Amino acid sequence: MRIAVVGAGIIGACIGLALAKRGVEVTLIDRDEPGHGCSYGNSGAISPGSVAPVAMPGVLASVPRMLLDAESPLFLPLGYLPRALPWLAQFVASATPVRVEESARRLHAFHEGAVAKHVALATEVGVPELILQRGHLHLYPDELALAKDAGGWRMREAYGYKFERLDRDGILALEPRVGERYRIGLYLADHATVLNPLRYVQAIVAAFVAKGGKVQRAHVRSLQSLPGARWRVEAGEASADFDHAVVAAGAWSVRLLDPMGLRVPLESQRGYHVQFPGASQTISRTVILADKKIFMAPMEEGLRVGGTVEIGGLDRPPDLRRAAMLERIVRETFAGLEGIEPKTWMGHRPCMPDSVPVVGPAEGRPGLWLALGHGHLGMTDSIATAERISGMLVQPMKLTIQEKAA
Ligand SMILES: Cc1cc2nc3c(=O)[nH]c(=O)nc-3n(C[C@H](O)[C@H](O)[C@H](O)COP(=O)(O)OP(=O)(O)OC[C@H]3O[C@@H](n4cnc5c(N)ncnc54)[C@H](O)[C@@H]3O)c2cc1C
Repeated sequence: MRIAVVGAGIIGACIGLALAKRGVEVTLIDRDEPGHGCSYGNSGAISPGSVAPVAMPGVLASVPRMLLDAESPLFLPLGYLPRALPWLAQFVASATPVRVEESARRLHAFHEGAVAKHVALATEVGVPELILQRGHLHLYPDELALAKDAGGWRMREAYGYKFERLDRDGILALEPRVGERYRIGLYLADHATVLNPLRYVQAIVAAFVAKGGKVQRAHVRSLQSLPGARWRVEAGEASADFDHAVVAAGAWSVRLLDPMGLRVPLESQRGYHVQFPGASQTISRTVILADKKIFMAPMEEGLRVGGTVEIGGLDRPPDLRRAAMLERIVRETFAGLEGIEPKTWMGHRPCMPDSVPVVGPAEGRPGLWLALGHGHLGMTDSIATAERISGMLVQPMKLTIQEKAA
């Protein structure tokens, strides 16, 4: 069986490795070096407790004000509003209590066991040092700010995720450099952090190649269905035929699916990070400035401060005011960053209106598989996604024969 996986981000890399381990001939195709899309600059948080979708009833009340305020965690440039409206309408429709419960149930199924899975995978691909198991500390200035997130915390509790409430002294005992502003902490001790998302993807791809997988660097121009549910992949100047094709091209997946008439409501939620080189000792675990929706991580190469949602599409240049806002907030909150010039990055989170990724066969297109829409939690859900796709793709019969032979 020959399979093409389009996209070598964390999702495509994990799928490639899972399939190669099952003895399948896989070609992983990306126009860039593996891991240089959204998977490059994320905050590395493995957050199984984040079962609440982005579209929560409470969030919606504040959306109109947030959308037009360039300093808020959510921003939509007015010029992009007409393009975004259909997606926003679905986002709003998915925020009813019944649909939120359904999304949480489906997200939990992806998230469950994520920390143990990433510890095992990092060990398997030779980079166990990349997984930091010191928990996540969420910070709030006051009760009012905490109350705005109450729904999310209730859902974590309902799904069995344990957290501890800390006062100012408790916060300082864990993270002595947190500034005055933050008085309430909620600590999830069993959450984890990938300390270098790019190096993690590279290690997974190296393990994939060691298992016989092929990496092809080319822009995929189109996917064409052939008789017998096979697929032709036109990549760069060449084309090749495969028994199956998996689309794991992140936020750009729509550009491959639209020409086929496959409509998936996927929108880019552009996020930014600023990274202060050499300043990772500022914190010793993932710290979340929850009122600002900012994630800070002590990455291998420095202190990474990620966040903001900007619904502005795939083509606009980065809006550096968003990154400057992250920089200002973190400098106000933590001393010791004076004189350090941060590096700035923007990436495209591939987001579905209900926050639930699309993982499985493409409807009405035998042989075509979708693994996209992981939104804010693609690192967390990458292994579960790969397990699902490889489990569905490789027939149980074939597996049994191979396992017996081994
Ligand atoms: C600021 C920020 C912080 C985040 N923090 C976290 C976090 O803490 N925890 C977490 O779990 N998630 C986090 N995320 C989300 C996470 O990064 C994404 O969900 C995840 O990276 C998506 O992975 P992907 O493989 O689907 O997409 P990508 O990493 O974008 O990979 C898609 C790949 O497809 C390739 N591609 C696209 N089109 C084509 C084509 N036509 N031909 C060839 N190649 C193509 C691209 O080059 C790219 O390499 C964060 C995201 C952002 C922006």
